[in-house]
Amino acid sequence: MSFANLGLVLIGKQGAGKGTQGAELSKHYDIPHISTGEMFRELVRLESPTGKELKQYIAKGELIPDETVIKAVKERLSFPDCAHGFILDGFPRTITQAEALSDLGTPSKLDLVINLEIPTRLVLQRLTRRRVCSNCGANYSLDSPPKVPWICDVCNGKVTKRVDDTEQVIQKRLHLYEDQTRPLLQWYKTRGLLVDIDASRDSNEVTRQIVNAIDQKLKDKKDSKVSNNYEDDIS
Ligand code: AMP
Repeated sequence: MSFANLGLVLIGKQGAGKGTQGAELSKHYDIPHISTGEMFRELVRLESPTGKELKQYIAKGELIPDETVIKAVKERLSFPDCAHGFILDGFPRTITQAEALSDLGTPSKLDLVINLEIPTRLVLQRLTRRRVCSNCGANYSLDSPPKVPWICDVCNGKVTKRVDDTEQVIQKRLHLYEDQTRPLLQWYKTRGLLVDIDASRDSNEVTRQIVNAIDQKLKDKKDSKVSNNYEDDIS
């Protein structure tokens, strides 16, 4: 594990592996993994008034309104554990959300956006086989089940299929991805923040590729800081 000052966003279609990679990177860099989908599912589980409102959007595969999402993320990023960085998974999903993130003025700013690229046919295969813990959100699949059948290894919660992992809802979510989220790739590319990673490979290999990209970015950041300090010293 290495300690990092890092603001990271993971973008990719549903099933590209954002959750799995986010959890690995969180351990590796010791910064929080913030999945907006998981935050909202938790509110639904708690049956809070907000949770009841959000349940319909999630079950239908629709996007929760920007205003609600931005407010929730802003609040989460103000928690002390985000002082040295964050890994956002599932946010931003629209240009309005991306603009809000750049205006948030969080202690750590965004350094890098990782685009996990994967063909749609693989996504459909992965999502129909995906299972998640209904208590803590840990990810499993029919090919990689928990040790005790359908009891979560992490928290002993019940492992089930997500309500929005049905063929019809998956199609809708993929359509929204193309329509609302894909334009973000160009948006971040023009800002020099985007790195594309082939997410169809083995999960450990994908983690290795992402860690390489992040470490390079952190090194560049450190080098430019040293050279700025040097210029300040000699001026
Ligand atoms: P995910 O777990 O990222 O697939 O998200 C599950 C669901 O939560 C989505 O289909 C949306 O209904 C909602 N959601 C999560 N993140 C966002 C976001 N950034 N903007 C709008 N809705 C979101």
